[in-house]
Amino acid sequence: MTHRGVAILGSTGSIGTTALRVLARQGDRFRVSALTAYRNAALLEQQAAEFEPTFVGLVEHGAGSDPRWQRGPSCLTQAAVRDDVDIVLNAVVGSIGLDATLAALECGKRVALANKESLVMGGHLVAAAAQRGGGEIVPVDSEHSAVLQCIAGRPGIEVRRIILTASGGPFREWSRDRLGAATVADALRHPTWSMGRKITVDSATLANKALEVIEAHHLFGLPYDRIDVVVHPQSIVHSFVEFVDGSVLAQLGVPTMELPVLYALTHPDRVTDRGVPPFDPVGNSPLTFESVRLDDFPALALGVAAGRAGGAAPAVYNAANEQAVAIFLDGGIPFPEISAAIGGALDAFGALPGDTRNALEAADAAARHFVRARFGC
Ligand code: MG
Repeated sequence: MTHRGVAILGSTGSIGTTALRVLARQGDRFRVSALTAYRNAALLEQQAAEFEPTFVGLVEHGAGSDPRWQRGPSCLTQAAVRDDVDIVLNAVVGSIGLDATLAALECGKRVALANKESLVMGGHLVAAAAQRGGGEIVPVDSEHSAVLQCIAGRPGIEVRRIILTASGGPFREWSRDRLGAATVADALRHPTWSMGRKITVDSATLANKALEVIEAHHLFGLPYDRIDVVVHPQSIVHSFVEFVDGSVLAQLGVPTMELPVLYALTHPDRVTDRGVPPFDPVGNSPLTFESVRLDDFPALALGVAAGRAGGAAPAVYNAANEQAVAIFLDGGIPFPEISAAIGGALDAFGALPGDTRNALEAADAAARHFVRARFGC
């Protein structure tokens, strides 16, 4: 078997470092052909020395020493379209990841997608690019990986419903009053998953689950009324698929991103990997499920409504959320204001068109500007 070339966009982040750990164990099956990072030049340098990629890129100008590195945001698309790259693991945070997803699909590559903003913002552009170029998306998100594994190639007509699980985040049991006083440190204390800062806050607001509902809609072609969410605090059941005969399949595993990352690289095959300890049903019991507290975590319903509305609404939702989370992480607004900022931006710009890359860009910028002006310092 010849090795497959992998580009890792966002190699110094949580998913990127996880992927390199998995790839190091897989030996000759894969070759790391390209690495890009946002600003962590020191770690990127270490990774480049260990994996010897033919391409290295750093998004932020400034830091970093090696003159052979490509600089600026365009390094993402440069890495994604290279001839020695078969699989692009897009683990970039935020809407900056969209162009690399589109470029890779146009070139017929597999995109192992951890950048959910690509699908949320530009779902129809992504589908069109895949069709034109012959590329394919395989989700890295644990919930969507679970759904893909449960569907296992069966036709969509056999699927009645997807049920995405949500851990509920650090504030699952907090009263609404207490949420008003939640600190940044509280929001970053995720009970089951270890992830980057932005997605961890998104898990606390449940905005992450809204993005995942939109993502599922695009990935699996199901209307929104056939995608449900249930809270599952243990994060062992990664999602359910209910089929038309009433049978329900679920995919289970300990909460580590190593599993969905590896599966996205090897789908539909499975390969031997010894990184994850054997599953212990007794040790992981009991598994419990709860309804979502939609009124206390309004970001979820706002996001699903934005998905249903279509046009630029999902891009506005995503941009407003990114901007509001950044302000929250800087201590600029209290926790509940994140959802308020998203709601305000959707009221103002949710009806804008979103049919082209430029229209999405404009809506994204308008939403960010609105949130900065109203909620920033
Ligand atoms: Mg997820």
